[in-house]
Parts: sequence; structure tokens; C-alpha cells
Amino acid sequence: MTSSNDLMRVTVLGSGTSAGVPTLGCRCAVCRSTNPRNKRMRSCAYIEHRGSRFLIDCGTDFRTQALANGVEDVDFVLITHTHTDHIGGLDDLRAFNMIHGHAIDLYATPESLTEIRRRFSYCFQPPPPGGGIPEFTVHEIHGDFEVRGIPIRPVPVFHGKMPIVGFRFERFAWLTDVSSIPDSSFELLRGVRILVTSALRHRPHPTHMSLSEALEVAQRVGAEQTYFIHMCHDLEHEDTNAKLPPNIQLAYDGLTFTV
Ligand SMILES: [Zn+2]
Ligand SMILES: [Zn+2]
Ligand SMILES: [Zn+2]
Repeated sequence: MTSSNDLMRVTVLGSGTSAGVPTLGCRCAVCRSTNPRNKRMRSCAYIEHRGSRFLIDCGTDFRTQALANGVEDVDFVLITHTHTDHIGGLDDLRAFNMIHGHAIDLYATPESLTEIRRRFSYCFQPPPPGGGIPEFTVHEIHGDFEVRGIPIRPVPVFHGKMPIVGFRFERFAWLTDVSSIPDSSFELLRGVRILVTSALRHRPHPTHMSLSEALEVAQRVGAEQTYFIHMCHDLEHEDTNAKLPPNIQLAYDGLTFTV
């Protein structure tokens, strides 16, 4: 049994695809919707567990999301892959460096860390006078690892042809930007109680699962509850959820759950 003080508290800071919803310049019904659940910022999860606060990805909208959701510090960040909608907010973490006086630990695959060092090269050089750059301590992930007493299992998935990772904690998994999941990774997900994974739109896409593909994945994993993220403006929140089973639903920005 899990004691209540061992629960993870998960907040979906961003449930949108790379362009966000509303999409700039678009006048479609979803982009013009006044329902807050049709407003989707870029990908990010905020998790509080065992006295630590951490992110999965740190997308372009991170600062706005942190202000809206009362995120006051981040101990570490897990990176799924280095598309800009997943790492575009890393620079904003410097506010926490300055206030709390600690470097922020970044965990990513060697391939992702190479790209982060290239894209954010100014963060890995001696600070300029006056500082103003984030301070990261980077850690390569190779298989299961533990951070601050939290066991973490990388789950390999494909994002088109690109191998990326999702993350499984004991009872919860977050797999974004998925186009397909190898059989061996379904094994790694066995017994998960809450699954968050991605569903872009109805039509197929070369690097993202469609809603029907994501539904098949959700049914195969068989979690008690599945939430979809990384949606584009093709999916209206209420209409789409009405057609999905109650335990497989679109997430929305600001959704929180404990697991
Ligand atoms: Zn993405
Ligand atoms: Zn639109
Ligand atoms: Zn991506």
C-alpha cells in the first residue's frame, strides 16, 4: 500500500502541440473558443513528490505557466527530447537559480544533452559580468535511475524516426510526442495506474499519434485513467471528450491529479 504522503501530485502545465492553441493567425472555431480548456500551451509537466519539485520538459510557455500555477522552485528537469516546444523555456529557470542559489539538475539522453549544449551553449560557459544565465548540472540517463529518492524509468518511444524517451514513475507514466511504442516499452509500462500520452488530431501525422492511434495505445496499456496531451486545434475539448470513454480523456492546461 502507498501512504497518502507518498502520492505524486502532477500538474499538466501545457497540453498543446508545438504551435500552441490558439495557433497564431488561425481563426478556426477552436482557436476562437472562449472555453479555457481549448487554450493549450506548450508541453510541460510539474510534479511534486517526496519533498522535490520537478518538471518533465520545459517548453516555450514555461514562465507563463509557472506564474499561473504557483510554481516557486524547480529542483530538477527531465527532458524527453529537444524540439523547441519542449526545451524553449529552459532559460527562464535562471530565476530559480538566482532566488534559491542552486544549480538545476537536467536529466536527458546523451543525444539530447549534446543538442542542449549546442542550443544553449551560453549556459555552459563562464558567466558574463552580472550573470543572468541559467546554471545547470547535466546528467546523462542510461536506463533506470533515481533522483532525490524518486525511482525513474526512461521509456523509449519513437517520434517519427527519432528515438526519444518518456518517463515512468512507480504508478504514473508521461509519454509525449509519440508516433509508435515498441513492444519492449509496453512491457516497461505494465501496471501503470495513470498514463499521460499524446494525441495530435484525427488525421494521421508522420511524427505523432492520431487520436485513434492514441486510443489503441491507451487500451493496450490499460491504465485506470489515461489523459491525452499535445493536441492541436483540430480537437475541440468538450466534443472530443464526449466521444471518448470516461477513463480516457483529453487533458487540459492546469489539470492536476495525485497518483
Ligand atoms: Zn512536441
Ligand atoms: Zn485554429
Ligand atoms: Zn517533438
